[in-house]
Amino acid sequence: MPELPEVETVRARLAPVLTGRRFTAVEIHDPRLVRPYEPQAVAAELIGERVAAVERRGKYVIVRFDSRRVLLIHLRMTGSLRHSNGSLAEDPHRRAVVRLDDGSDVTYRDVRRFGTWLVLEPDEVEPYLSSRVGEEPLDALFTAARLGERLAGRRAPIKAALLDQRTLAGMGNIYVDEALWRARLHPLRPAETIDRPELRRLHRAIRAALEAGIARQGSTLRDYRLPDGESGSMQKEFKVYGRGGEPCDRCGTPIAKTRVAGRGTWFCPTCQAERGSAAAAPQAASSSSRRPSRSRRHSSV
Ligand SMILES: [Zn+2]
Repeated sequence: MPELPEVETVRARLAPVLTGRRFTAVEIHDPRLVRPYEPQAVAAELIGERVAAVERRGKYVIVRFDSRRVLLIHLRMTGSLRHSNGSLAEDPHRRAVVRLDDGSDVTYRDVRRFGTWLVLEPDEVEPYLSSRVGEEPLDALFTAARLGERLAGRRAPIKAALLDQRTLAGMGNIYVDEALWRARLHPLRPAETIDRPELRRLHRAIRAALEAGIARQGSTLRDYRLPDGESGSMQKEFKVYGRGGEPCDRCGTPIAKTRVAGRGTWFCPTCQAERGSAAAAPQAASSSSRRPSRSRRHSSV
């Protein structure tokens, strides 16, 4: 699934070709893309709109129009956007086509069909996004202290807390595993037990993992492509994700795989040892069955 670095790469590539262009024709072939609305009605709303900016929030691509209305695109599992000139090759997975006033096309392809397009009125945009996505991890306002506030009182494993889009916007399975490796934190650590030095490490690690992904135009495992059809290359640089049994870059220990929050999770059992911090272990915590055992945590104090 595309995460922040992939969506940011798509945004950065689409912005120069879309900004200032008008939508002269719109075809939506798949009702699932815009449900509960009618494809023809949504297409009719979009025709004539002129693009003012292409932005991103979390994993959403935000196409802002001069009218101040917005087209909000979420790629979900397998959605991708392409920009092309000339005739379109046959593609059974193409779900929508936007013709621009310079004659080029932006097409949307989606094999699994979980992606969504939603047209929002100006006053609907912020309420819609702020109820679904939390802090932007690359924003200058995002600090280690803010991260600590987001994690305070949360007994969930740190991995689950970071996957929650309302905690931080845009992290998914890949970059959470990569960030936790960089921060040397076990994915099952209860979020609320992470102390201040660890928070600073985690904050730096989250940014470094995401910036590494953006620098390599994201990771192409299967469906993700750039708008010109190219692949990202971050998948060649993963530290832990998908590397079960391979040696850790830092210490040589074979990378282990487990499941956290229902997701395949990779980590280094040595660098990311499973232990509470010295300040850990709130007495009342009992809700999460994924917590490390009490005896192991105490043995490390
Ligand atoms: Zn290691």
